[in-house]
Amino acid sequence: MLLIFGTRVRATAVATGEFFCPRCGADRSYVLQRLRRWFTLFFIPFFPVGKSLGEQVKCSTCGGAFRPEVLNAPTTATFSENLRGAMRVASMSMLVAGDPNNAAARLAAVDAARKSGAENYDDTWLVHDLAALDSSQIAGYLTPLAQGLNEQGKESFIEQVAGIGLADGPLTPPETQVLETVSAALGLSAAHLRGIVVSITAAPQSPANGDGPPDEYRHN
Ligand SMILES: [Zn+2]
Repeated sequence: MLLIFGTRVRATAVATGEFFCPRCGADRSYVLQRLRRWFTLFFIPFFPVGKSLGEQVKCSTCGGAFRPEVLNAPTTATFSENLRGAMRVASMSMLVAGDPNNAAARLAAVDAARKSGAENYDDTWLVHDLAALDSSQIAGYLTPLAQGLNEQGKESFIEQVAGIGLADGPLTPPETQVLETVSAALGLSAAHLRGIVVSITAAPQSPANGDGPPDEYRHN
């Protein structure tokens, strides 16, 4: 009788979860597979041979296979959540560095939180956030964004935070310090930050006192 034997690579599922699929360009579910060569007899796998061939991440939607490192990238959902959290911590720090009771500054902070995706954010949330603020968390929230945000995203983040400080007048030294902390955590140089601040303050604003709507310098 003729024996047909050989080997074949088999994938065994070891974990599942959600990841950002680079091929789909979206959050998808994945299966983490361990690859191993098996001895086959009449095309039926009998036993594993040799060492493990490593692992691969398989997208359940497009079927694409990726190296396990792909799981290190945050999902879109996680990233958005980080962004919202970071904006709130940065906004609150800026608010506290100035006058947290100033109506225009509070309005700018609410606006910044909404633009970062927290659509229902209002003054009640702001009161809670102010009470819960721990400024030492800024770097922890912002550092993950340094990789995920592009240059434009970082600049617009800085602009939003600066807008809160500028809502009640020119930036004070403590407000400038918050801006420097935020900027450094995002990986922007001091010169870059100065450039952003100059471009915001140079934009048309009522020269007497910044009583105008805080949106004035954001749209161009
Ligand atoms: Zn995919």
